[in-house]
Amino acid sequence: MTARHGTVGAIARDLCLSYANTRYWRGTDPPTESLTSVADLLRWLGGAAGYDTETIAAAERWGGEDPQAAARLFAEALAIREVVYRLFSAVASGRPVGEDDIRALNRALDAAPERSQIVPTDGGLAWQIGYDAPTAPLLLAPVLWSAADLIVGGKNDRLRQCANDKCLWLFLDDSKSATRRWCDMKSCGNRLKARRHYLKTKQGRGVKPAV
Ligand SMILES: [Zn+2]
Repeated sequence: MTARHGTVGAIARDLCLSYANTRYWRGTDPPTESLTSVADLLRWLGGAAGYDTETIAAAERWGGEDPQAAARLFAEALAIREVVYRLFSAVASGRPVGEDDIRALNRALDAAPERSQIVPTDGGLAWQIGYDAPTAPLLLAPVLWSAADLIVGGKNDRLRQCANDKCLWLFLDDSKSATRRWCDMKSCGNRLKARRHYLKTKQGRGVKPAV
């Protein structure tokens, strides 16, 4: 029996990619990090991962009471994020997935709560999560389920890594033609096109590119 219960709503198919992309501009040194504390992680979990506010508030209180345990949880959550990133980066690039990364994903899945009960909530129905104390596999359960479903789900031919080598964002290409190369045409696509245009026309004339 578990002491507490939380809920998460519908789990986006690409939630694991959204989590991997919380560290971005991965082709630059250093990449941009959007999660710098357990508070950032909990904010993301309450938003993108659809956790109920009470579970997030309880985890915040727990972290305030035991900052060392919260720091360990945060470090483990970031390590799991890098496992997810490496796995899907490999799949998107046609490289074999790392056995160590599959083992790490399996360990985290094993430690995650069961996805066995749906319960009514104020907003409709949600997955119930039972737990005793917050852990990284518990809080990341929706991410881990999404990663497992995506990697075995036959959608791997739609997995992409942004063609901008500074960006390297992971995404699912849902376009009809399945030829999307950039995470976002407005930022990465146009930036690359503008840069190529600059190199062709202005190079050596002392004019800086507009990007
Ligand atoms: Zn991009």
